[in-house]
Amino acid sequence: MLNLPAYALEAISTLEAAGFEAYVVGGCVRDMLMGKEISDIDITTNALPEETKKVFCLKKTIDTGIKHGTVTVLIDRMPVEITTYRIDKGYSDGRHPDSVAFTRSLKEDLARRDFTVNAIAYNPKTGIVDPFEGEYDIKNMIIRCVGQAEKRFGEDALRILRGLRFSSVLGFTLEAETMSATINCRQLLKNVSAERIYSELSKMLCGKDIRRVLLTYAEVFEEILPELKGMNGFNQRNYHHCFDVLAHTAAVVSSIEPVPHLRFAALFHDCGKPDCFSVDSDGVGHFYKHARKSTDKAEAALTRLKSDNFTKNRVVQLVKLHDTPIEPKENVIKKKLGKYGEELFFELIKLQRADNMGMSPDFRYRQETYGQIEAIAREILSSKQCFSLKDLAVNGNDLKTLGISGKDIGLALKKLLSAVIDGKAENTKEALILYYHTNVKSI
Ligand code: ATP
Ligand code: MG
Repeated sequence: MLNLPAYALEAISTLEAAGFEAYVVGGCVRDMLMGKEISDIDITTNALPEETKKVFCLKKTIDTGIKHGTVTVLIDRMPVEITTYRIDKGYSDGRHPDSVAFTRSLKEDLARRDFTVNAIAYNPKTGIVDPFEGEYDIKNMIIRCVGQAEKRFGEDALRILRGLRFSSVLGFTLEAETMSATINCRQLLKNVSAERIYSELSKMLCGKDIRRVLLTYAEVFEEILPELKGMNGFNQRNYHHCFDVLAHTAAVVSSIEPVPHLRFAALFHDCGKPDCFSVDSDGVGHFYKHARKSTDKAEAALTRLKSDNFTKNRVVQLVKLHDTPIEPKENVIKKKLGKYGEELFFELIKLQRADNMGMSPDFRYRQETYGQIEAIAREILSSKQCFSLKDLAVNGNDLKTLGISGKDIGLALKKLLSAVIDGKAENTKEALILYYHTNVKSI
């Protein structure tokens, strides 16, 4: 017996009372069987969309995808997607079914679904309907295509990434045939739209098993992100590193919080390294200016994948700065806080912490330094100390009254801020004006 929320039970019993079949299906059944919280409920029924609308004529219904058989019904203010049993016919472009046909057979509807773990239906009367043994695969933590894997990926190549996403998020491994099809069919991903790739990639990167997935399916990632080419197996020849560039990257990605822009920043932070490699006379490898190269590649990749602007801009800032050393000293941290802003500053430390987790264990002591940096920054903020121009006791107008004009105002303010941060002047109007006359004006 699965514990369905009241609105799902109501949707099922209303359809059944009208003489139709109805089941919860797909991700929500999988998640319930795994004992996880469920977010959205999908219902599958033999009622045609028009029939579903009639059954729920007293409720608000939305024609979400009426051509594909989906009607959304609001029950207790919860949107419930109700889709007619269907078969997808022909995929000549490898991404959209040429047409969909409705069917009265639940089994046929389950057969068009991507993975066995997503092809289970349930209702309280019949119980579990699981013709492809998805429950067995859930127990054994396996992702297996329904039917022949290569054929299913040929119909819709996005399934390749969905499989890797479920593998990363659920911690399941791909069954052998699904695994080889994932690698063999990777070139079909060129038919998949940027938006769909980006959406799967964001979710996949936030999965708990992303480290394993990145390393096992490097070729698939290179297909959608050619910017990552060259990283796999690239020996860094540097005592800081015990991993090649890709293995280091995978460790960094999995060490940072599962928030898409942080994980993307980790994914790209070193992708410029193979292009910037040099070996010194002692045989030690270096990657001068790799942060710049990685930044350009990250920007190109996220632009191509049509990422939202917040993610792209934040990833670009983080990758660009990831290598900037920050000393655990109050004045240094105030300057960085003023320059980057609070949010970017703390995220940069998170990235540096994760970067360090992917290095040789001998350098792990730096985690303590990052802790000190964060503590100092938090203290500066909570005691409201001055670290940016807006905290300064004088502003541009005050300087104008002293006869300063144009660009000199900005320059003078910066010098005064530095003086306050470095403890050379107190942050009061009088002290700063005096400091200006004695130290800044003369320069
Ligand atoms: P989540 O909601 O956690 O992302 P989900 O499994 O519910 O995972 P959805 O995209 O919501 O995924 O799709 C609902 C169901 O529709 C899936 O469980 C699967 O049965 C089916 N499905 C979705 N996309 C595809 C696809 N590209 N090919 C075949 N079946 C699919
Ligand atoms: Mg879902």
